[in-house]
Amino acid sequence: MDYQFNTKCLHGNNEKKPVDNTGTISFPIYQTATFAHPSVGNSTGYDYSRSQNPTREQLELIVASLEGGAQAVAFSSGMAAVNALMEIFQPGDHILASDDLYGGTIRIFDNINIKNGLEVSYINTFDIDDVKKKLQPNTKAIFVETPTNPMMNVTDLQKVGELAKQHDCLLIVDNTFLSPYFQNPIALGADVVLHSGTKFLGGHNDTLAGLLVLATDELAEKIRYISKTTGAGLPPFDSWLILRGIKTLPIRMESQQKNALILADWLEKQPKVKSVYYIGLPSHPGYEINKKQSRGFGSMISFHVDKEETAVNILNKVKLIQYAESLGGVESLITYPMLQTHADIPEDIREEKGINRLLLRLSVGIEDIDDLIADLEQAIAD
Ligand SMILES: *Cc1c(COP(=O)(O)O)cnc(C)c1O
Repeated sequence: MDYQFNTKCLHGNNEKKPVDNTGTISFPIYQTATFAHPSVGNSTGYDYSRSQNPTREQLELIVASLEGGAQAVAFSSGMAAVNALMEIFQPGDHILASDDLYGGTIRIFDNINIKNGLEVSYINTFDIDDVKKKLQPNTKAIFVETPTNPMMNVTDLQKVGELAKQHDCLLIVDNTFLSPYFQNPIALGADVVLHSGTKFLGGHNDTLAGLLVLATDELAEKIRYISKTTGAGLPPFDSWLILRGIKTLPIRMESQQKNALILADWLEKQPKVKSVYYIGLPSHPGYEINKKQSRGFGSMISFHVDKEETAVNILNKVKLIQYAESLGGVESLITYPMLQTHADIPEDIREEKGINRLLLRLSVGIEDIDDLIADLEQAIAD
């Protein structure tokens, strides 16, 4: 059975295992550490929740179906998913990464994975010729975000996918910002899709989660082995929260994007706003490529204001929009990337990318647009 997207958000591809015979509509939370065996040499398929748990498994089935992957594996956070993924590499392997990644991903690459002998270099993956030039004989993966966090740079997934195939290395795509509702990197050549489920998949700012979606069963088995061995699998209750969040993913994404399009337009007209980075604006340099490879623009907007005082004022004065890190939920949040998500990036690199005192990032929620505009209007006023 291959359902369409909105149906899959509720039922996956209907491969739900008959774990319960009550007819429950909401998938049960299997809050158990371990499972009894019917007899010696027999297992119900479940032994111990670090290895398998039915609630986590149901989430994995649904997310795999949404991304068109062979399997998905759920972790306790997006970073736990990145950490597990890095365990498939060997000392001496090289990873070529987008130079505007989520700050935590750069932190784990540079400060943790480096101890395993991994070498990571960063380039602007918008420039495909440069990606080709920077591939090394030991390059085992290309790691991209598109659009990137927070500067919204776009990478041509099909083109990097072709390069990865030619070079016999993996293409890993962090698809957190667009979610599977708007973009499916596996169909464009990715081998691994990463999600911080904390963001759009969960959608309610109430739990952390991470997912790896694997294009092949072979890769999935490697990741499952690492997951059960290192033990950062998503707990049952959190799996259930993400399952519940995904049920409304399509309507949240549409409603958040609708608000974001209006807000980006409004921001562009404000004298104190110097530039707006939103991939839904035709003036965005990645607009055409993003349009070709996705079905939408999402609801993340970054913008530069005229002076530091304006940025600080906005953050201090917003009432409805909350000054907090994270993104993708139904509540609108505003972030100061320099002080929050990207605080650990060396200053010179940060400044060069435009992540400076003047940059703010908005995650647009589902509030009424007039209320969002009124809040920003009073916050930006002198
Ligand atoms: C938040 C985020 C992560 C990390 O996920 P956590 O769930 O916070 O661990 C990774 N990539 C992107 C793009 C993110 O926004």
